[in-house]
Amino acid sequence: HMVTVRYADGKGWYEPRVEARAPIPMDPASAVLHYAQEIFEGLKAYTLPDGGVAMFRPDANAARFAESAKRMAMPALPVETFLRSLHEIIKIDRSWIPQSEEGSLYLRPFAYASEVFLGVRPAMEYLYLVIASPAGPYFSGGVKPVSLWVTPDYTRAAPGGTGAAKCGGNYAAGLSAQAEAIEHGCDQVVYLDAIERKYIDELGGMNVFFVLDDGTLVTPPLTGTILPGITRDSVIKLAERAGHKVEERPVSLEEWRSSAASGQIREAFACGTAAVITPIGVVKSAGAEFTVGDGGTGPVTTEIRKQLVDIQRGRAEDPFGWVHRVL
Ligand code: PMP
Repeated sequence: HMVTVRYADGKGWYEPRVEARAPIPMDPASAVLHYAQEIFEGLKAYTLPDGGVAMFRPDANAARFAESAKRMAMPALPVETFLRSLHEIIKIDRSWIPQSEEGSLYLRPFAYASEVFLGVRPAMEYLYLVIASPAGPYFSGGVKPVSLWVTPDYTRAAPGGTGAAKCGGNYAAGLSAQAEAIEHGCDQVVYLDAIERKYIDELGGMNVFFVLDDGTLVTPPLTGTILPGITRDSVIKLAERAGHKVEERPVSLEEWRSSAASGQIREAFACGTAAVITPIGVVKSAGAEFTVGDGGTGPVTTEIRKQLVDIQRGRAEDPFGWVHRVL
């Protein structure tokens, strides 16, 4: 199915509907097709041990969606409308939730400029939609370390750009970089900062954490060039609760390389809604390659992953109020 809500200047958001999923007719002059005024979110719904269904931190996705809208000069969708639309799609598509251990229903809310207009200015008409899609485990056969390619050619976002917004244009710009990573035999691209080309920003679709030998977790700060990941935020809170020190500070590729060699950085992992928490095994860049830890899954990565997944799945207590029961 799909949920749709329309917007027009002067009228606001109107005509919320739940209907069978179908193609959306579009005029060739629809603003989004030319200027990419579009934003989206991604989150998951899971089956709980008692057979109920829950979403993980949908209010955080609503807040980020509002921030993305602001950056892309789009009208704010009321939080209640956002949450309600997710409830509606889960209710009607619940039979699509896979019953497998790591299965979930991936939810994709998005909005785009639907006004038929060729001038460059914020559109006056928008369409908001939600679709859902069953998702299995990100990696079949258990959690496997990923290999990373540090792109020498591309950056993800510059200061003042759209790096902190979840807009389609960011991902279009990243496709060549991801293709480069695949060409070098790696799973994911890792971006360096756009100014000094020195500091680790994030991966194509995940934030990154380093685990030091004293158990401290380090992650790049939210300077506006990386996506403020909801998993990133959850990891920080879980790690602090478990007694780890957490530092948000820049980490250069050089620091990562030398600290991995000296054993000061013992583990590194990537995190995001799709991959949850994924260990990083090998890092390749032009002319160099190094392994993080023993190239496998470290104990802190395993510990934090288990805590997160157990809360998400309703198998552990939820002291942060992250799990929103829908059914
Ligand atoms: N960075 C980028 C570029 C992403 O696309 C994602 C996935 N949404 C993330 C980080 C992780 O964000 P989240 O934990 O909210 O999924």
